Amino acid sequence: MNKAMTEQELLDSFDDAIKFGHIFVTYQPKINHSTGRMIGAEALMRWTHPEFGMQYPSDFIPVLEKNDLIYRADLAVFEAVCSFLRRCLNVRITPVPVSVNMSRYDIYRKNYVEEIEKLRKKYDIPVKYLHVEVTETSAIGGMELVSSVLKQLHEYGYIVEMDDFGSGYSSLNILKDLAVDVIKLDMRFLSGDIGGRGGTIINAVVQMAKWLGTPVIAEGVETVEQADYMKSIGCKYIQGYLYSKPVTEDIFLQKIQKLEHEPMIPALDLISAMDAGKFWDPSSMETLIFNNFVGGAVIFTYHDGNAEILRVNKKYVREIGMNMIEQEIIDTDPFIGMDEHNKRIYRDTLERAINSNDEESCETWRTVCSKTCGEDRICICSYVRVIGKTDNQYLFYSMIHNVTAEKTRFTELYESERRFRFASEHANVYAWEVDVVTRVMHPCFRCVRDLNVPPVVHNYPEPLIENGVFPPDYADMYRDWMNRLEKGEMDTIEGIIPLTVGRIPFHVRYTLERDENGNPLKAYGSATLVVDGEDENEENKK
Ligand code: C2E
Ligand code: CA
Ligand code: CA
Repeated sequence: MNKAMTEQELLDSFDDAIKFGHIFVTYQPKINHSTGRMIGAEALMRWTHPEFGMQYPSDFIPVLEKNDLIYRADLAVFEAVCSFLRRCLNVRITPVPVSVNMSRYDIYRKNYVEEIEKLRKKYDIPVKYLHVEVTETSAIGGMELVSSVLKQLHEYGYIVEMDDFGSGYSSLNILKDLAVDVIKLDMRFLSGDIGGRGGTIINAVVQMAKWLGTPVIAEGVETVEQADYMKSIGCKYIQGYLYSKPVTEDIFLQKIQKLEHEPMIPALDLISAMDAGKFWDPSSMETLIFNNFVGGAVIFTYHDGNAEILRVNKKYVREIGMNMIEQEIIDTDPFIGMDEHNKRIYRDTLERAINSNDEESCETWRTVCSKTCGEDRICICSYVRVIGKTDNQYLFYSMIHNVTAEKTRFTELYESERRFRFASEHANVYAWEVDVVTRVMHPCFRCVRDLNVPPVVHNYPEPLIENGVFPPDYADMYRDWMNRLEKGEMDTIEGIIPLTVGRIPFHVRYTLERDENGNPLKAYGSATLVVDGEDENEENKK
């Protein structure tokens, strides 16, 4: 029969609880949701009173904290964990790292870290098997104190986990200022709609942690949906009822023997030149540079052909995003809008950059869909470079430039050039097309370059008669050709005309294009230089 105890009853029974093991430890596994393997466990304190039964941490821990007794309970837990690990090691069972909670009141005690270090030495436990969980609210007592305790723990080699991240005490500042090794993100603080605000906060924290190279453990995960969601945003480490409730030492030992283990790996190892902390500081020089001086830029991770955006700057949004907001882009990937062919081009470029360890570039076409403008095709030139890596994951920095306008102009030119070539049936010719109705003429680029023809000619052929491309003595003949084409009297017309002031003989030929009703539409003209002997028998067919 369990019955809640009064504060006085708790205090009166405390000494006995420590002495006789009424206060003891349960263990809750931490699991890699991608592999199902165990990466560690958390030690959680329990108190079973011989008379009143099970007492809950939420009831007795505040009482112990208030009465300055929590450090004794915490040291008892630490010793019990060391003792358990010692027994594992003695029988050659490889344990997993066990995290022990440190109350914020422990932080205020001068010698607390020395005390746990003494216990670790007494049981001769390699420090890699012991992590310390420090709650986010510890910082309420002042950052300097927490910082110095973290420093001390790090000097002894302990991994420090930031507990209850997201519970609200200016979380993002803490991440920036405190050197924690692991972040524990409690799903219960962010409960509610995962796709909504809660999801946005979780996502932002996970992305930020990734950038800092800090692994994240999602705590309080009760459903597969929650676990899958966390995995989908890049947080695969899970602790919660979904995998296991806190279990007794015996059951935990069975789990250690039954379940495969694997180490927890940091998300990414940044190249030393980059100060990741500063990068998130909105007032830092790094951020200033990223946002203002580098043009469109994006930072993303790349692993096995898959990429995930961590950060974009405002210019990136402008170059690529139409009117997508930054967050929407963060939720997508760098392959956004690319078809398979363009994806391949992009992936190949990333692989080249990995191999060359240098900047590589490519151009890819993407279809962007914006809420107001609908679909659009854009061409993005990307310069990519690796800036960090772990065993199999790369961190990329990419500058981008929207080259759609240049590309489209080039493509249009290329297209008309191709059509001219086709119509002319000759290899090395000048070519142009004339709308026989509107008398608008488009020359090929060689006409523009060599013959000084403007890119668009209106009221064709008059301007070219005026500027002497067509000599005056052939002007009327030529006007007559245009009239006959306009009326659709002929499908081809050709003849030798001496062109330009040099009166160089060209074989000029027209092919008429008609619409589906047979009405004249366009005339494709070509002019081929007459070389010796050629065309002699064709002299003036007019
Ligand atoms: P905590 O450090 O955040 O520990 C996680 C709490 O969440 C544990 O509650 C655990 O049983 C519970 N939990 C784990 N998975 C789930 C889940 O999927 N759903 C739900 N609803 N809960 C889950 P517990 O054991 O009752 O401990 C409560 C708090 O008491 C701890 O929160 C910690 O702040 C404190 N505490 C526990 N053991 C110790 C200790 O040895 N020393 C100190 N100083 N504090 C401790
Ligand atoms: Ca904890
Ligand atoms: Ca927690």
